[in-house]
Amino acid sequence: MSEHYDCVIVGAGPAGLGAALYTSRDRLKTLVLEKFVPGGQIINTDRIENYPGFERIPGPDLIERMQKQAVTFGAQIKTSSEVTALKRLQEGDIEVSCDTGKYITRAVVLAPGSDYRKLGVPGEEKFRSAGAGVSYCGTCDAPFFKGKQVVAVGGGNTALEETLHLTKYADKVTLIHRRDEFRATRVLQEELLGKANEQNSNLLVKYSTVATVIEGQDKVQSVKLKNVKTGEVQDCPCDGVFIFIGMVPNTEFLRGFVELTENGFIKCDCAYLRTNVPGVFVAGDCRVGAAMQLATAVGDGVNAAMMLKQYFRDPNWWNEAVSDVLQPGGW
Ligand SMILES: Cc1cc2nc3c(=O)[nH]c(=O)nc-3n(C[C@H](O)[C@H](O)[C@H](O)COP(=O)(O)OP(=O)(O)OC[C@H]3O[C@@H](n4cnc5c(N)ncnc54)[C@H](O)[C@@H]3O)c2cc1C
Repeated sequence: MSEHYDCVIVGAGPAGLGAALYTSRDRLKTLVLEKFVPGGQIINTDRIENYPGFERIPGPDLIERMQKQAVTFGAQIKTSSEVTALKRLQEGDIEVSCDTGKYITRAVVLAPGSDYRKLGVPGEEKFRSAGAGVSYCGTCDAPFFKGKQVVAVGGGNTALEETLHLTKYADKVTLIHRRDEFRATRVLQEELLGKANEQNSNLLVKYSTVATVIEGQDKVQSVKLKNVKTGEVQDCPCDGVFIFIGMVPNTEFLRGFVELTENGFIKCDCAYLRTNVPGVFVAGDCRVGAAMQLATAVGDGVNAAMMLKQYFRDPNWWNEAVSDVLQPGGW
């Protein structure tokens, strides 16, 4: 017989743990299913400086606190439990299947996160941390490269925004893009090229260029750049490489259950985090429009848990338009 829960949360990253704290404090019987160990992406960094309340904290320390707090209030966390399928049952409950068993629940919070798309070049894995020099988040790590030289990779909106952010800290930023024009919006392109064309600008743009190897001893020291049109290869000395070539949401197992965007992000109404399946909420980096930050992932988890109570009070709420729902102070 499958065990019954009020709420099953898929993924014990910041979004999942944020949701678990709130649902368990509300005395809802809560199960968090985690593929590996609790923590998600943030356990890969030893310095977080943009989580309110902590001037600097290693990712694993913060996660340990979040996990303890949720468990203290009764949340059950099952590790090494990969969710493989979900099914809505006739009575409105949801069946969650994973390699450790099947669970029946009244509601679900999907929080399986996303992974940064990798360049796949030698050196990328070896130096993967802001301390060693390879980063995927300028907003998170730019301040660690104050007065240093960095290479940024990418040509979309995020790449251009993050590169502009890097120019506020680094002495020199070289942005490389494999095509001969950017994909980003015209406004962003104009802003970026305006910056690159300033006198004594610290920003250099190289089109039709790819990184082929990231080199160094303990830390990044240079990148080999190749012009894809001429074949010319040059060494670019630098202290860091920022890779902004997109995110890959961990949502393959949800295909056919909830609506996904073309790129695999979970569709939802961003105010209340409802998916197209009644009783199934979404939180964190796996959802459409996510800001891909620790604080916003936690905020999503909290928001989804709050909305879940509204759904339990009135299941018909699911079909109400965002503007019809909840007056300020309604809680
Ligand atoms: C190296 C690094 C440094 C970063 N530094 C910062 C920073 O300084 N500041 C900042 O704001 N942000 C930072 N970020 C981004 C931040 O970590 C993410 O925005 C945040 O972790 C997203 O949280 P999440 O819970 O949505 O997803 P995730 O953290 O990705 O967690 C998702 C969890 O779900 C699990 N999971 C996935 N699929 C399944 C499944 N099918 N079944 C069960 N479990 C599943 C995963 O194993 C994972 O534990 C950093 C990211 C990285 C990689």
